[in-house]
Amino acid sequence: MPRRRSVVCPSCGTFLCARDTRCEVCNAWSPRVKQAVFFKGVTVAAALLGGLYVWHAIQQFGTTLVPH
Ligand SMILES: [Zn+2]
Repeated sequence: MPRRRSVVCPSCGTFLCARDTRCEVCNAWSPRVKQAVFFKGVTVAAALLGGLYVWHAIQQFGTTLVPH
């Protein structure tokens, strides 16, 4: 029998399946979903920062190439 991973709802303490995204009792997001959302936010922020850095670098590169 495979071991079932269980998580406890942080709001009401109900045992949830690890797969569950929401608590059936109080409708709170499970810690797993919160973690996934957090990592997604970090990834998006990193991508935005990276894009901004590349854009800035391209702008600087353009100003050094074009003589005033
Ligand atoms: Zn709950």
